[in-house]
Amino acid sequence: MGALPKRRISTRRKGKRRANIKVKLKLLSSCSRCGNKKVYRQVCPSCGQE
Ligand SMILES: [Zn+2]
Repeated sequence: MGALPKRRISTRRKGKRRANIKVKLKLLSSCSRCGNKKVYRQVCPSCGQE
Protein backbone atom coordinates (compact mmCIF):
# COMPACT_ATOMS: atom_id res chain seq x y z
CA MET A 1 0.00 0.00 0.00
CA GLY A 2 1.20 3.44 -0.81
CA ALA A 3 1.42 6.24 1.71
CA LEU A 4 -1.90 7.99 2.05
CA PRO A 5 -2.36 11.39 3.67
CA LYS A 6 -4.30 11.19 6.91
CA ARG A 7 -5.98 14.50 6.25
CA ARG A 8 -6.89 16.41 3.15
CA ILE A 9 -4.51 19.33 2.69
CA SER A 10 -6.39 22.63 2.91
CA THR A 11 -6.24 25.07 0.03
CA ARG A 12 -4.21 27.44 2.17
CA ARG A 13 -1.52 24.83 2.68
CA LYS A 14 -1.58 23.93 -0.97
CA GLY A 15 -1.03 27.56 -1.87
CA LYS A 16 1.98 27.67 0.41
CA ARG A 17 3.49 24.68 -1.30
CA ARG A 18 2.80 26.17 -4.72
CA ALA A 19 4.48 29.40 -3.69
CA ASN A 20 7.57 27.44 -2.71
CA ILE A 21 7.70 25.75 -6.11
CA LYS A 22 7.46 29.11 -7.82
CA VAL A 23 10.43 30.39 -5.84
CA LYS A 24 12.45 27.38 -6.91
CA LEU A 25 11.57 27.99 -10.56
CA LYS A 26 12.73 31.58 -10.30
CA LEU A 27 16.37 30.47 -10.13
CA LEU A 28 18.48 32.64 -12.31
CA SER A 29 21.07 31.35 -14.73
CA SER A 30 23.18 32.91 -17.43
CA CYS A 31 22.59 32.41 -21.12
CA SER A 32 24.93 29.96 -22.84
CA ARG A 33 25.15 32.13 -25.96
CA CYS A 34 25.37 35.74 -24.77
CA GLY A 35 25.94 35.35 -21.02
CA ASN A 36 22.94 37.49 -20.20
CA LYS A 37 21.14 36.77 -16.95
CA LYS A 38 17.90 34.92 -17.55
CA VAL A 39 15.37 32.88 -15.63
CA TYR A 40 16.35 29.22 -15.44
CA ARG A 41 14.81 27.17 -18.31
CA GLN A 42 13.28 30.20 -19.96
CA VAL A 43 14.11 31.77 -23.26
CA CYS A 44 16.83 34.42 -23.08
CA PRO A 45 15.30 37.90 -23.39
CA SER A 46 18.18 39.30 -25.42
CA CYS A 47 19.06 36.57 -27.93
CA GLY A 48 16.28 34.01 -27.70
CA GLN A 49 18.54 31.12 -26.73
CA GLU A 50 16.65 28.54 -24.72
ZN1 LIG B 1 21.18 35.05 -24.60
